Amino acid sequence: MERDDGGLFLVNDALEMILIFDRMGKISYANTAAETKLEYGSELCGKNICDIFPNDFRKDGESFETNYRFGGEIQNLMAYRKNLTCFPVEVKMDSRTDNGTYVCMANDALEKEHLGREIAQVKKEAQQALKVKSEFVANVTHELRTPVNGVLGNVRELLDVETDGQKMKTLRTIERCCGDMNKIINNILDFSKLEAGKFALEPRKFHVRDMLDYVKANHMGKITEKGLEFFMTVSPQVPEYIIGDELRIVQILNNLLSNALKFTAVGKVTVEVLKTAQVNDRIELFFIVIDSGIGIDKADQDKLFQSFSQVDASISRKYGGTGLGLNICKQLVELMGGRIEVDSEKGRGSIFSFSIWVSVTEEEAKASSETDAVRTYSFVGDRAELSSDAQEEDAKKYGTPKNQEALSKNLSKLILCVEMENWEKAEMFMDMIRQLTQGAPREVGRVILKLKMAVQKENYEKVTAGFEELKTLLQG
Ligand code: ADP
Repeated sequence: MERDDGGLFLVNDALEMILIFDRMGKISYANTAAETKLEYGSELCGKNICDIFPNDFRKDGESFETNYRFGGEIQNLMAYRKNLTCFPVEVKMDSRTDNGTYVCMANDALEKEHLGREIAQVKKEAQQALKVKSEFVANVTHELRTPVNGVLGNVRELLDVETDGQKMKTLRTIERCCGDMNKIINNILDFSKLEAGKFALEPRKFHVRDMLDYVKANHMGKITEKGLEFFMTVSPQVPEYIIGDELRIVQILNNLLSNALKFTAVGKVTVEVLKTAQVNDRIELFFIVIDSGIGIDKADQDKLFQSFSQVDASISRKYGGTGLGLNICKQLVELMGGRIEVDSEKGRGSIFSFSIWVSVTEEEAKASSETDAVRTYSFVGDRAELSSDAQEEDAKKYGTPKNQEALSKNLSKLILCVEMENWEKAEMFMDMIRQLTQGAPREVGRVILKLKMAVQKENYEKVTAGFEELKTLLQG
């Protein structure tokens, strides 16, 4: 027992009862909890341990007699109060050979049980509240889908008959907004289902390469629009058919790919699929999505898979998103028995990889290895390094032919967005232009800054003036 002031203070105020007694059983110290719970007050010092535990400690001349094993495990005894009523306690006693004293630490078992019951009740209520909240979110998002899809359906009908260019542009914008809204609604729905533990995978047999072609087709528009290079390689060992939840695998890949494309201005995006393990009819598939985009700080990488987490507020303002995507991916990957990881470097791109376990029939595995040999899919043996491609680096270096090419592409896209008054997208291209002009002469930097401010302020005249000024400067 610590006898300095700090130690004694802690012992005095401890929640459990603490007693010190000597060879004769005489109590020489009792903390506040012991004095209160045994209802002796300050009289407790001077009493005998046999008065407190009469069933287990008996007076024996000058000493006491007991079967209690000092220094052993926690034991359940009955403690007697001053008024001779008793209550169960969990007791641990040690003997101190240096000064011949004994230390007794005891917990009120009833209180502990009561506390345990209370904790269980609080936990139950919290779980119930969470369930109600999740159900509410699920219901609301479900209800939201109906009007959004109603708008979408009507807009599509109007688009079929509309011929006026300006009106069609407006209708397309509404169509795109409904699509975005649906994506957010679906994310919230998935998230609340996963949180409530109500999410069930729906495995069925599907063709892996067809699924990958579908994923690729989903993103082709963006890839072309941004002028990025895109590669998809599938190892020949990946079987033709697998049994898994295709919809959810597509969802994970779509999320990783749209992030990769969202955050990459120049260079390339690569997807690789490998078979990394097999145990009987279960195989592990490993997917890698590599981009040469803005990258993520090491310090921010841990936060990525948490819900509602975006690297910083300016990113969410510029690129949009709810910060739910990667958290959903992580939960889905874990449901499929795998792991998701990120390896990234600020300004150098990112590698997102995940593994999943799926089933395969023996014949299918065999058939896939035979047919894969003649398919055009090729597996590039080594995992690509971040931005290892010399051309990509070249595009980032101001003044090189690749850089000039990327710059003029992005400038045309910027001005197109401004013409269409799509300021959000214009800001995105502005961002790419800024990346591409890093290291440019001072006067270029000055015009870029002016242009950026004009885009942020959505000032059409100033943007076009800045654009012309920049074009002249770049040509000169
Ligand atoms: P959101 O639905 O908002 O896109 P995600 O969970 O998919 O949310 O992504 C969270 C954040 O992680 C993004 O806002 C971005 O800051 C960062 N991030 C994700 N993928 C990439 C990437 N390939 N390159 C750079 N940053 C990324």
